[in-house]
Amino acid sequence: MLLEVRNLSVSYKGIQALRDVSLHVNRGEMVALVGSNGAGKSTLLNALSRTVVPQAGQVVFDGKDLGRMAAFQVSRQGLLHVPEGRQVLADMSVWENLQLGMLALGQRPARYSLDQVYALFPILEERADQIAGTLSGGQQQMLAIGRALMGAPEILLLDEPSLGLSPLMSDQVFDALTRLNREGLTILLVEQNAYRALECTQRAYVLDRGRIVMEGASEMLMRDQRVIESYLGA
Ligand code: ATP
Repeated sequence: MLLEVRNLSVSYKGIQALRDVSLHVNRGEMVALVGSNGAGKSTLLNALSRTVVPQAGQVVFDGKDLGRMAAFQVSRQGLLHVPEGRQVLADMSVWENLQLGMLALGQRPARYSLDQVYALFPILEERADQIAGTLSGGQQQMLAIGRALMGAPEILLLDEPSLGLSPLMSDQVFDALTRLNREGLTILLVEQNAYRALECTQRAYVLDRGRIVMEGASEMLMRDQRVIESYLGA
């Protein structure tokens, strides 16, 4: 087991966003976390990467208790988070953004070279000198993923990578994620588009109002009547 979350709870000034959440991700898996708006999906990823401090619970990553580690220390363990939205360094070039991704390496060796990132997203090589803030939303998402890859992830946490993207861009991003997973990268994916998330993952958890209410093989959840009614818009 690469990531184990035990009884995690998070509250924001009295609003309980996560209650007693337990889940795990095995090495090499691609796991989805689905649920409607406000279910707590982003909060969970933020708690894992320590941009939000949990109130209770334990996160064990690669055998280490993340305990009271700060966000930069967690990223140096190889737990890398691509947050929701266009979180690139907007005033810097594409190349500079990718170089800065290497800060997460700490003492660890690289896992993906710049050439590998460029091979995955050729547009980033074409636009290497362009200022990141002037890229399209889809290109910025690719850059955010590329930057995380430069930090040698053991696990990649992705928060709504297709949000606001054109269908074509969204397909390209999902193809790249599927390819990365096939080549061995462990991925935890948060996605509003539940059908898409279930389609490209092996297992999934359903979060509802801060609690895990269902879990199982993605293929099975896709055929579950409750999932279809609540999340697949049927
Ligand atoms: P969405 O898909 O809309 O991003 P989500 O499933 O990611 O939803 P969260 O963003 O984690 O859900 O939000 C969970 C709950 O916590 C919501 O009720 C939200 O309003 C609340 N919340 C999130 N961030 C904060 C914050 N910084 N301060 C106060 N409340 C917050």
